[in-house]
Amino acid sequence: MDYVFHSTTKFLNGHGTAIGGVLIGSDVELMNGPVEKVHRLLGANSNPFDAFMLTQGIKTLEVRMERHCHNAMEVAGFLDGHQAVASVNYLGLTDHPDFMIASRQMKHPGAMLSFELKGGLDAGKRFIDKLRMCLRAVSLGTTDTLVCHPASMTHYSVPKELREKYDITDGLIRMSVGIESVTDILTDLDQALA
Ligand SMILES: *Cc1c(COP(=O)(O)O)cnc(C)c1O
Repeated sequence: MDYVFHSTTKFLNGHGTAIGGVLIGSDVELMNGPVEKVHRLLGANSNPFDAFMLTQGIKTLEVRMERHCHNAMEVAGFLDGHQAVASVNYLGLTDHPDFMIASRQMKHPGAMLSFELKGGLDAGKRFIDKLRMCLRAVSLGTTDTLVCHPASMTHYSVPKELREKYDITDGLIRMSVGIESVTDILTDLDQALA
């Protein structure tokens, strides 16, 4: 008996417009019987509008993912060669520790990546302030490119030593690469890094 449990909030919906989740199982009787009963009793139902947004968004999942991953690969390659960047973490780069296993298991390496700015905290803040098209946001899996500087945003209140224990360094930037024209993304990153 196999189960798959997904958040539909991210790439499945794809537009950052609805929150939801799905549980999918291969045993139809069990899913339509006891599982549905628990689901109803617990009230874990989507509201109609979020369900509508999801069913619209999911129609373009495959084309979006191809573009997301293609753009992410271009962005990773661009950052990898940039003088302001110390390192890039992306599953599609051959120096990633999980590159081999990912290329066996996955068609594409995803659209999430992170990179480390040489200039630390100040460089991170300056970079994120200078972005003109890419959005300063914490979420992921939307058509827009979202960029987050954990040290000044999500992890601002976490003591530096504790952050660094988990490799959340001062100059770390997290990106969810969107499906915009890759030239526009690269142009924005380039001017923000300058
Ligand atoms: C991921 C996320 C959530 C939670 O969604 P889940 O379906 O629980 O994964 C809520 N808000 C934002 C902004 C998010 O990025």
